[in-house]
Amino acid sequence: MAVKAKYANVIVDISHEKLDKTFQYLIPAEMATEIFPGVRVEIPFGRANRLIKGYVIEATDESACDERLLKQIHSVSKDSLPIESQLIQLAWWIKENYGSTMNQALKTVIPVKTKVRPKTKKYIELDVSDKEAAGLLKIYGNTKKFVARYRLMEELSKEKMLPWDIVTDKLNISDSTLKSMEKSGIIRISVETSLRDTVHYHDAKSDPVSLNTEQAAVVNRIKKDMESGDMTPHLIFGVTGSGKTEIYISLIEEVISRGRQAIVLIPEIALTYQTVMRFYKRFGDRVSFINSRLSQGEKHDQFEKAVNGDIDIMIGPRSAVFTPFKKIGIIIIDEEHESAYKSDMVPKYHARETAIERARMTDALVVMGSATPSVESYYKASNNIFRLSVLENRATVNDLPQVHLVDLREELKNGNRSIFSDRLLNLMKDRLEKNRQIILFINRRGYAGFVSCRSCGEPVKCIHCDVGMTAHNDGNLVCHYCGYRIPTPKACPECGSKYIAAFGIGTQKVEAYVKKIFPDSRVLRMDTDTTSQKGGHEKILAAFANHEADILIGTQMIVKGHDFPLVSLVGVIAADLSLYASDFRAAEKTFQLLTQAAGRSGRGTDKGEVVIQTYSPDNYCITYAANQDYPGFYQQEILYRKLSHYPPLTGMVAVIITSPDKTCADNLAAFIAALVDRLAAGEGLQVIGPSDAGIAKIKDIYRKVIYLKHEENDILVKIKNQIEKEIKENGSFGQAGVQFDFDPMNN
Ligand code: ADP
Ligand code: ZN
Ligand code: ZN
Repeated sequence: MAVKAKYANVIVDISHEKLDKTFQYLIPAEMATEIFPGVRVEIPFGRANRLIKGYVIEATDESACDERLLKQIHSVSKDSLPIESQLIQLAWWIKENYGSTMNQALKTVIPVKTKVRPKTKKYIELDVSDKEAAGLLKIYGNTKKFVARYRLMEELSKEKMLPWDIVTDKLNISDSTLKSMEKSGIIRISVETSLRDTVHYHDAKSDPVSLNTEQAAVVNRIKKDMESGDMTPHLIFGVTGSGKTEIYISLIEEVISRGRQAIVLIPEIALTYQTVMRFYKRFGDRVSFINSRLSQGEKHDQFEKAVNGDIDIMIGPRSAVFTPFKKIGIIIIDEEHESAYKSDMVPKYHARETAIERARMTDALVVMGSATPSVESYYKASNNIFRLSVLENRATVNDLPQVHLVDLREELKNGNRSIFSDRLLNLMKDRLEKNRQIILFINRRGYAGFVSCRSCGEPVKCIHCDVGMTAHNDGNLVCHYCGYRIPTPKACPECGSKYIAAFGIGTQKVEAYVKKIFPDSRVLRMDTDTTSQKGGHEKILAAFANHEADILIGTQMIVKGHDFPLVSLVGVIAADLSLYASDFRAAEKTFQLLTQAAGRSGRGTDKGEVVIQTYSPDNYCITYAANQDYPGFYQQEILYRKLSHYPPLTGMVAVIITSPDKTCADNLAAFIAALVDRLAAGEGLQVIGPSDAGIAKIKDIYRKVIYLKHEENDILVKIKNQIEKEIKENGSFGQAGVQFDFDPMNN
């Protein structure tokens, strides 16, 4: 990674709070090829020019001040690269490929150090010899006044050390007794600090399941690759319930036995509970997890454990890819198609690509798994950039569920205006009678969808964001982007018409309806409203897993990855809702959701069934999902991507211009448009825009977008660098700023 620059920006203390503090040094000519981000150097520091160690975070030709004031780097450290070097190198890669400052990239990669007090545990132990203790025990035994002391000495003669709370609660010894015994030198009170645990699950370990033939073949193949040093990323395309998790576990066992560590990325907070349990049962307290709901202190402690080697496996969402393990052997990416792997904050990195880069740096293997691979990954697998393994069968007794497609237009023709088709209703009755469980999936939250005017057609929009507001059944309209809340208006704010109404169906409405038809059924609802407190997901999922409810109603978060053996019916209330989003991935996302939803059915001993209700039963993503035919879907989808020049066949970046002031945003957009037009000549660059972004305003910040497409992503990276450079050089655009979103996912 030789950069060959004149100056090096060096950081002396690589901790989150000090990342802004860099010092510039001259790079001596003979070191030019050795200096790049992450390298450890010795530099003369301070007035006395004391030699200290630091890390190069950037090599640049831009001097921060008069060159004559700069000192030279003394030497390049030849020690083996510490974990900090790896992370700085990764930050550099992120900055280059996704567009951000080095500081933003470092802050993404380097874990936050917090000043939180460590968790402490107090213990009581004897401070006298055994002989003295025996003497004291006799004395206490003879005096009524000392019954408490006698109790304690008796316990301490059996157990050398007792936890404080056992002594005070169980043995009922008062604080003052303990203090006075400590004062007279009979006992010692010791304090032990420990790192917080996030896993509060302490069942016995269970034996590994024996892998079936399909699973064993995949494991053997990947192990063979590892042995021969072939670290090509591996994609496991395995139908829902084919036992991918068992494959991960088996591979991790192998990696750990070679003294290396594992990171397991999972997409949703909702998945943590079940996944962590499964890993915990096999690896005990060598496993930890992080998620966004942990406190800073808890999160920090988990990374600390990773650095210290107290754990071997870290499970977590995309940011877990930065877990500071010293010797990573494998990075697993479960449900690799999930859009949650893409960061929505600058730098907008994708955890899959970042994992592949991190693995490349440390000679580790990336293993991805999905029942509905992303079109990107399957494309790479088809072109031998990834290796592909296929699991065609479920690991359990039953095969994939039977899917019924219901045309809602026909239902309407036959006079059924309710949420449920006759087919779904009958199957629900059947499952409730048999005491089995049902999942109802709605692709939306809130009581109902957007409220719009039937006269002028305008939806009621948030005044801070350019999006429709969603009706909740407390009579309010809520903006899901900023939380702005107003009472539902009686008349259209645009034209004054009184004919305004909510369209669409939400979780609350479905719940109300189910309760009306099946008053005795026990219903759980899982959506953003019911899961907002800490542990909300886990509680609902655990209750459903314990069969405390018959029906689980929910949005996206219930259909992903979960394993509920008693569920033998899944109903998709309206499959179309995600189809019409203005997104080139709309068909892919709809296909994934439907297939994943169907995959929740029939995972136990009963054969599963699925009802997909839709207004567009002929759409290819719906028919292929109903047939659970991923390769068929892929063939059609990749053709569409090819014809309309979309990723993965074309590189694409969204240049997003944001500003609280509309004119500033327009000016910067015009400047960038002119610049890319100039660059486009002879480059084969396709420029779309500038135009208002899909959501033209969020929280009072205006957003404009220019899409750039080019066959080669590297060219887009170059153009990004050029845009950054010219904005910096060419003056002021007020508060307007620019963000880059490569391979955009949610615009
Ligand atoms: P996936 O991650 O592919 O959806 P899971 O790993 O969750 O699948 O496995 C689905 C179900 O099959 C789980 O209940 C799991 O315990 C079970 N299972 C997986 N592998 C085996 C096996 N080799 N033998 C028996 N049961 C298995
Ligand atoms: Zn808003
Ligand atoms: Zn109106």
